[in-house]
Amino acid sequence: MAADVDAIVIGAGSVGNPTAYFLAREGRRVLVLDELSASGQGQNKAAIGGVRATHSDPAKIRLGQESLEIFSHWKEETGTDIGWKPGGYCFPAYDETTESTLRTLLGVQHAYHLGIEWRDPAEIRRVVPGINPEGLRGGTYSPGDGQVNPLKAAESFTHEAVRRGAEYHYREKVTDLLVDDHTVRGVRTDRGEYRAPVVINTAGARGSQIARMAGLELPVAPESHEAGISAPVKEFLAPLVVDLRPGPEGKTANFYFGQDADQQVIFCYTPRPAVPGENRTSTFEFMPIAAARLVSLIPRLKNLTIRRVWRGLYPMTPDGSPIVGWAPDVKGLLLGIGLCGQGFMLGPGVGRTLAALASGTRPILDPDVLATLSPSRDFYRGTKESLR
Ligand SMILES: Cc1cc2nc3c(=O)[nH]c(=O)nc-3n(C[C@H](O)[C@H](O)[C@H](O)COP(=O)(O)OP(=O)(O)OC[C@H]3O[C@@H](n4cnc5c(N)ncnc54)[C@H](O)[C@@H]3O)c2cc1C
Repeated sequence: MAADVDAIVIGAGSVGNPTAYFLAREGRRVLVLDELSASGQGQNKAAIGGVRATHSDPAKIRLGQESLEIFSHWKEETGTDIGWKPGGYCFPAYDETTESTLRTLLGVQHAYHLGIEWRDPAEIRRVVPGINPEGLRGGTYSPGDGQVNPLKAAESFTHEAVRRGAEYHYREKVTDLLVDDHTVRGVRTDRGEYRAPVVINTAGARGSQIARMAGLELPVAPESHEAGISAPVKEFLAPLVVDLRPGPEGKTANFYFGQDADQQVIFCYTPRPAVPGENRTSTFEFMPIAAARLVSLIPRLKNLTIRRVWRGLYPMTPDGSPIVGWAPDVKGLLLGIGLCGQGFMLGPGVGRTLAALASGTRPILDPDVLATLSPSRDFYRGTKESLR
């Protein structure tokens, strides 16, 4: 039977939208399917919008650089404001362990020529006005990183993809993959069937369920994370600030916050222990803990008005790296899943990579680097990256 399109993308999220955009830009006929009612309504809209290339793993560094390049030039390219705010990332250090972790990472980051340096306490106080000076030992600052509004980005990638011919179907759930002779032929949904020589799984927290439809077992498991946002306040803070210390309450690992392009303070913490599962109901403890951590770092934020909190999912892999590449044993099935807590910032880089693989053009990642994201890798070798 003839193909309906060149590629089907499952999921209009942080990864699926850029994938559709790059495919459409290359002149491919693309169909994007999402069970939700609009673009970016899965975990994409839960992200606080931090975008950085300053990772410690070559694949993430390269994907982050590519994403930064795309996000930071998006307005020139398309005329659309997606809330890009340069201003970098700052990791302050208040104890020896954090200082030593950050200094060790600098070695790796400099080997990849990333613009990140150690700054003394006075410089950190200039970069983060009002930061608690007590015990501050300095920190790292990477001015080239930034922030983007995830909903505006989803909307704009979708608009640009559609303008180039991509078709989006919302409220349409993929219920099965059509596979025969170890080859994917298309998808079945709750409304019908579509045929394509390439099917791209960018289904986020449901990525492993979609893979299972083709008989593949991939370790992507959702984890719950909460976030909040304030009413706007006078602009005072350029970077996203990440406090790597565990919280004194014993329930949190790192805490991070920034002021977005609309001057709202946006914040998040990593719960400890991790909370596996798909629970998206906000907890009573989130706001008191987040407020205490925020005020301990910037005491003058004690009168901040909080406007909204929410809870979303990180699609986690055991080694903390995404799964990007062709599925083993099922021809035509591409995977862009398991983006953990970095799917928004890596999304455009992963999307460009998937589009290149689908079109048979040269991906932005060198083959040996791309191999580190392979679905066939050993997920339990080595350690998780320390800067999630
Ligand atoms: C509180 C919080 C803060 C975060 N902050 C950041 C941050 O600052 N920076 C960052 O980079 N990341 C951040 N993240 C992580 C980021 O949100 C995710 O990594 C990212 O959104 C995952 O992208 P995705 O495209 O894989 O999934 P999604 O964006 O969820 O897209 C997957 C889509 O697939 C659709 N789908 C699933 N199954 C089916 C099906 N059967 N049929 C049809 N459609 C289907 C879903 O409806 C969804 O729209 C944060 C996450 C949380 C929870």
